[in-house]
Amino acid sequence: MMVARPVRWGIVGATTIAREWMIGAIREAGGDVVSVMSSDAERGRAYAAENGIPDATTDLSALLGKDLDAVYIATTNEKHKDQTLAAAKAGVHVLCEKPLALTLADAREMVAACRAAGVTMGTNHHLRNASTIRAIRDAVAGGRIGKPLFARVFHAVYLPVGLQGWRIKDAGAGSGVVMDITVHDADTLRFVLGEEPVSVTAFTQQGGMGGDGIEDGVMGVVRFGGGLLAQFHDAFTTKYATTGLEVHGSDGSVIGIGCMTQKPTGDVLLRDASGERKLEVVPENLYVRSVTAFQNALRGEGRPAATGEDGVRSMALALAALESARTGREAMVEPGL
Ligand code: NDP
Repeated sequence: MMVARPVRWGIVGATTIAREWMIGAIREAGGDVVSVMSSDAERGRAYAAENGIPDATTDLSALLGKDLDAVYIATTNEKHKDQTLAAAKAGVHVLCEKPLALTLADAREMVAACRAAGVTMGTNHHLRNASTIRAIRDAVAGGRIGKPLFARVFHAVYLPVGLQGWRIKDAGAGSGVVMDITVHDADTLRFVLGEEPVSVTAFTQQGGMGGDGIEDGVMGVVRFGGGLLAQFHDAFTTKYATTGLEVHGSDGSVIGIGCMTQKPTGDVLLRDASGERKLEVVPENLYVRSVTAFQNALRGEGRPAATGEDGVRSMALALAALESARTGREAMVEPGL
């Protein structure tokens, strides 16, 4: 189903991410935000007014009935599946937030439903849209560090006070740092390395923020298909840590500093026998790039930056990390579809 006009979007979920990034990104990418759905009529109306959206509804079928081309699904994670299935059934394209669902079976079902309905599905893994991350990917793919041997992801942050809700309290909504942040590391590593993860070992931590059995920190090691090892460190609890992504190869290292973030910031260094230099990185809004790629896909040009299948595969690694932490053993990463 090709879309020739400016894409008409419905926002599913009156959320922080839509308010802070995605509504603006859709508009900057030339799309129209037609309506927003909230479970609460009053909050939905207020949210629509604050964000200049002409309409709000509490009913998904009413939203889907508004001659939409696409929905951006950004509700809490347990709702993504049913909302995606409904959109697919209505013939509306889906850009869904990560993690796609709470189980791999549900995520696979979402991708299958979109495929069967002939609608495009994307996963909003923003980091592969960052200029820094793309520069690291290009350096690795271009052979500038030789054979890639190790990667290190530093993604320990402090969860902003305004977001210290379901993420640390509600297991039913898909809480915990692994489904929130490790899933992004998984997608970023897969993108940068161009390889799929095979297995993972991980230890989780409860450092004082996560409620009742909900992890707020994790460290782990992933084994990739070609033998590369990648370590990751994610947390909600560290106020002063820096983020980064490094890939170390036989002939060089590429080092991203401050690049695991929503903002178009950070530096990338290349170190090899000839010394150290900064790679050129032209800052670009990650979310505008994500929406632009998605809209182009609706016009028959290319694919979403991260497809539905990317969402499934990245979730599979996060789920395997949780399994490893639970069992104390190395866990195999399940295949995508
Ligand atoms: P929020 O916590 O802002 O919103 C989640 C839900 O909570 C909303 O759908 C809303 O319900 C309800 N809600 C929001 N504000 C209030 C309030 N003041 N009072 C009562 N209920 C409220 O979610 P986030 O924006 O943090 O995350 C949404 C999704 O996006 C998640 O899947 C998350 O993983 C993902 N995400 C992705 C990011 C990325 O960069 N790719 C970054 C951040 C989040 P209702 O809609 O029914 O009104």
